[in-house]
Amino acid sequence: MQLLTSYLSGSWSAGSGSKVTLVNPATEVSLAEVHAGGHDLTGAFSYARTTGGKELGQLTFAQRGALLAGLAKAIHGAREELIALAIANGGNTRGDAKFDIDGGAMALSHYAELGAKLGETHLLPDGEPIQVGRTARMSGQHMWVRRRGVAVHINAFNFPGWGLCEKLACALLAGMPVIAKPATATALVAHRMVELFAPLLPAGALQVLVGPAGWLLDHLGPGDVVAFTGGSATARMLRTHPAIVAHSVRLNVEADSLNAAILAPDVELTSETGALFIADVVRDMTQKAGQKCTAIRRVLVPAARLAEVADAMRERLTRITVGDPAQEGVGMGPLATAQQRDDVRAGIARLAAATDAIHGETGEIYPLGVPAGQGYFIGPVVRATQSPMTCAPLNEHEIFGPVTTLGAYTGEPGFAAEFVAKGDGCLVSSAYSDDRDWVGKFVTTAAPWAGRLYLGSLKMAAQSPGPGTALPSLLHGGPGRAGGGEELGGERGLHLYLQRCALEGDASILKSLLTE
Ligand code: NAP
Repeated sequence: MQLLTSYLSGSWSAGSGSKVTLVNPATEVSLAEVHAGGHDLTGAFSYARTTGGKELGQLTFAQRGALLAGLAKAIHGAREELIALAIANGGNTRGDAKFDIDGGAMALSHYAELGAKLGETHLLPDGEPIQVGRTARMSGQHMWVRRRGVAVHINAFNFPGWGLCEKLACALLAGMPVIAKPATATALVAHRMVELFAPLLPAGALQVLVGPAGWLLDHLGPGDVVAFTGGSATARMLRTHPAIVAHSVRLNVEADSLNAAILAPDVELTSETGALFIADVVRDMTQKAGQKCTAIRRVLVPAARLAEVADAMRERLTRITVGDPAQEGVGMGPLATAQQRDDVRAGIARLAAATDAIHGETGEIYPLGVPAGQGYFIGPVVRATQSPMTCAPLNEHEIFGPVTTLGAYTGEPGFAAEFVAKGDGCLVSSAYSDDRDWVGKFVTTAAPWAGRLYLGSLKMAAQSPGPGTALPSLLHGGPGRAGGGEELGGERGLHLYLQRCALEGDASILKSLLTE
């Protein structure tokens, strides 16, 4: 069996001690092992700070952008191999795997282009010069400068490819060396990507720790950044980690999210906007078996349309075959781990006590191509409630699987926006309407509770990627329960890895600094 190694201090090392096994979640066949520790992390941090930081610091934004273009190309060159790994280790269908892997390449390409646009410079201005003296001679200018530390990237199991690339793109373009830590259970894709990337990058720019984090965070110091994606319990532990607290380490958290989708009263299900709504909800339930941080968990529909929406969803969901994603015709694979399956089962049981069954009962399923009892499968489950605002299991627990709940409402935009807010902060929520007045009333109240609002309508339906797709040009992150973090969003994504400094002095000197 393959023993996964970590790439630290310029070489691949196996570590030592007890081992963790990575499996195929459809068949439970063991795929690889990784040691739970035994790495020289002091050496890795020192290598990143000295060698990696120095090498990247010598490059301009344009040169660092060119490195990212090389990484995107490497993904394209190994695409089929990476897809096969995602199918085997992640329970991904081919479509799911492409979403993760092509999404990673897309994020790298986006930031490669941004680097070219920012040009042959090391500093970025933040806004315009400000007169701070009696005359224009005495000036102020904010600027962004590369942070002198290490960016530690901790990723969730569900997007091993995209998660690695979207964080890496921003940090490397900003000029920070990275130590990446993929989730152990699905690490095969990230491990292979680092094998491809390492020879294309300056020494020390990218290291990867495969396996449990161990003492990784104890090595953090001033100037470092931690970008974390994962569950809220782990995030809570990170927020109070002694090294993070002691050194004011910048911490970005992308955590749980109870994303909502709202059908406005003006939309007929037979319209293009109505079809977009149904397609988006069904896709978010079944793509990656619902294991998407951006997936729609809560759906609000006008009470008079609830039965029609339920019928449309049943009709779509019964056409999706659940099974081993290596088999032809399978549209939804298993959950990624046994723990995930058990957590989702517990979530469905909580929800079932407070809602009505619409489709899939408790998720029991006979998957295609898998012997009975094997694999971490749960079928799509739709529940419904007449009291969405007061349904605690719906508004308080993220079920990270193929589960969604329909709630009835009067169609009032204020109620819809309050329902979004009831999730206590989400990554994305969506509203489907062609009534601009309704949308205006909804957006102003809902926006403070979502990192992104997706507004589905007739004229964009044909080119929409759906709310579940995080785009490199738009912000990814959200307030409250979603972690309070911000990633991506074009140039905004670099700011986590840059230090803002206010320069104060002679206007002509300040100007010359930024035009060097
Ligand atoms: P998790 O258990 O919190 O793990 C996330 C990452 O943290 C993994 O790499 C894990 O490593 C690592 N980790 C665990 N304990 C740690 C520690 N003491 N120190 C440092 N790192 C530690 O979450 P998950 O089960 O992988 O992911 C599911 C959750 O992620 C869901 O709740 C979902 O909402 C959230 N998520 C959010 C986003 C977003 O963008 N907001 C995206 C995807 C997923 P090991 O694997 O080695 O344990």
